[in-house]
Amino acid sequence: MRLFSLYRSFVMMLLLNVAFSLGAETIFYDVVVIGLGPGGVEAGARTASAGLKTLIVGRERGGQLSAASQPVQNVFAVSPKPGAAIMSDAIRQAEDFGAEICEGTVTNISFSWSPYLVEIDGFKKIYARALVVATGSHPRRLSVPGEEEYWGRGVSACALCDAFFYRDATVAVVGGGDAAVDEAIHLAHYAKRVVVLVRGGRMRAQRFMQEKLKQYSQIELRYGEEVEEILGNDNFVTALRLRNNKTGDRTLEKFDGLFLAIGHEPNNELLRGVLELDQRGFVRVHDGSTEVIGYPGVFATGEIMGLQRRQVNVVVGVATQTGLEVNDYLSFGISRNQIPK
Ligand code: NDP
Repeated sequence: MRLFSLYRSFVMMLLLNVAFSLGAETIFYDVVVIGLGPGGVEAGARTASAGLKTLIVGRERGGQLSAASQPVQNVFAVSPKPGAAIMSDAIRQAEDFGAEICEGTVTNISFSWSPYLVEIDGFKKIYARALVVATGSHPRRLSVPGEEEYWGRGVSACALCDAFFYRDATVAVVGGGDAAVDEAIHLAHYAKRVVVLVRGGRMRAQRFMQEKLKQYSQIELRYGEEVEEILGNDNFVTALRLRNNKTGDRTLEKFDGLFLAIGHEPNNELLRGVLELDQRGFVRVHDGSTEVIGYPGVFATGEIMGLQRRQVNVVVGVATQTGLEVNDYLSFGISRNQIPK
């Protein structure tokens, strides 16, 4: 079976090489990285710096980090700087190493055998000996009226990016996990009042995290309350309609902002039904590795792996490992995970 798949890959490569020599557009790469956020760009920079012909493709240059409106403060060896500037430096570095950047939407991936096939914008076909999936995640939304309209204008899912705008303001945080605690504490350094709305009767955050909340007199915890509607003055959020899910009572309260901390969802549309995903929909990888289970030569990196800590440094560190693993895989022609322990 293994011999047959090697033979099939060999024949595919031969056919592709014939196509290229006949003058077809060069569509063959050693590595295609899907995702132009910190994870994808770092993994691509590392494979390119190892001399591998690398393409990094993604819809948005810089991913979520480029959207951060405030200088990012916690990136290794970088003084506070806007996320977009950090990402443009990172992309420049990847290009300097020889990586090619393609802004486009990946519409299909064929994981059946190597070389893997990636389709961009529905028509461009690219082949790669190794794939890196770095499609990231997106913050879960409430799906209530006003959320779409006021997103970025009072509604946010990133206190680290936006808290600065809420000096002396009254803001709400929705959620009861560790992220909600983090968001509330960060906001408490700016806002005069932070109301944490927990929909259930208890918080899910770790005990020590909940204890930390007690140090901030400006943070108020409210249980059994849900946001039903976000209201504003066409420019910015001004109020929230809240519903007590025990009594059914509704109140309209003034708020200057709303922060969502209700979890993240993986960007896995192209992976569902193909790669092995965990219960939450994140890609499953081998222990201690970023290689996808069951797919030698396919790697997942960054938030699509369901990282517990979504800090840029963590994502970039994992992506560096991915770059090295891809290099090993292509140099030795076999994945370490395939070697019996
Ligand atoms: P969690 O899944 O832990 O918590 C999500 C919270 O959002 C829950 O309280 C949940 O309520 C609530 N929620 C979900 N949907 C809604 C909704 N529609 N309306 C209102 N509330 C809702 O996610 P987190 O992002 O907090 O954490 C994810 C992982 O990241 C965890 O493993 C966490 O430990 C880690 N993390 C760690 C941090 C740290 O240690 N500093 C910081 C941030 C994250 P309910 O409980 O009722 O379901």
